[in-house]
Amino acid sequence: MAIDKLHECQLEKAARLIETADMMLFVTGAGMGIDSGLPDFRGNQGFWRAYPALARSGIDFISIASPRAFRRHPEVAWGFYAHRLNLYRQTTPHVGYDILRQWSEDNPYGSMVFTSNVDGHFQKAGFAANQVTECHGSIHYLQCLGACNPDIWPADGFMPVVDEANCLLLNEPPRCPHCGGLARPNIYMFGDDEWLEERTLAQRRRLEHWLRDAERLLVIEIGAGTAISTARDFTHRMAFDLHAPVIRINPQDAAIFGNTSHVSLEMGGLQALQAINAFCEP
Ligand SMILES: [Zn+2]
Repeated sequence: MAIDKLHECQLEKAARLIETADMMLFVTGAGMGIDSGLPDFRGNQGFWRAYPALARSGIDFISIASPRAFRRHPEVAWGFYAHRLNLYRQTTPHVGYDILRQWSEDNPYGSMVFTSNVDGHFQKAGFAANQVTECHGSIHYLQCLGACNPDIWPADGFMPVVDEANCLLLNEPPRCPHCGGLARPNIYMFGDDEWLEERTLAQRRRLEHWLRDAERLLVIEIGAGTAISTARDFTHRMAFDLHAPVIRINPQDAAIFGNTSHVSLEMGGLQALQAINAFCEP
């Protein structure tokens, strides 16, 4: 997409906000992963393009991303999540993550991340674990499907083998070390009463503590959509409660109201970050 005059003005305004902030909060959703080549699950078409085996069976994202799917069809539910685990492990986060890290390194109070993505890509891109809040959990952690105890443990030892054409896990799924039952990803799913949220709550407490010092906080929101709005809701809380200016980057629904200092960029994440960076002082 060519950058027109209107965007140029917004990009310049964004660069000035970055230069004057003393702490930054990066709020991201699924759109942040697209530029790394990760699939977009928005709408059945996007989801089924990524998982043709599930399309053949008429299984949509909401049905497979549920504890019920792990009970009814564990090999298919794990086929879906194990494929994603392998994909997120193999994929390199795009250079937009490096741009965010550079910006935050110049800040007295640094940066924190609030993301609805479960891919662990901020940590993979060099952000410290204690900078990140994963509001929907992480695919790199496991818990007991029956939630027999509060343990959440890393998935590092699990090396899944997946029949991608049929979306099936071929090797043994991970087991709960306490009851021997099936383990599942520590991700907040649809219709999920058993998600163990302690890991996310601990991240959240750290973030809230950091926010207490906020004076010149800047929120940069990237690829956070309206369909599952947890990330966007957090941006709005920062804008209203802490009067933080917001740079919202999204190819659709980028508008943001309430404060003339906000910047709205109807663009993809990586393109916008590179374009803003070009306006920042070296
Ligand atoms: Zn158990």
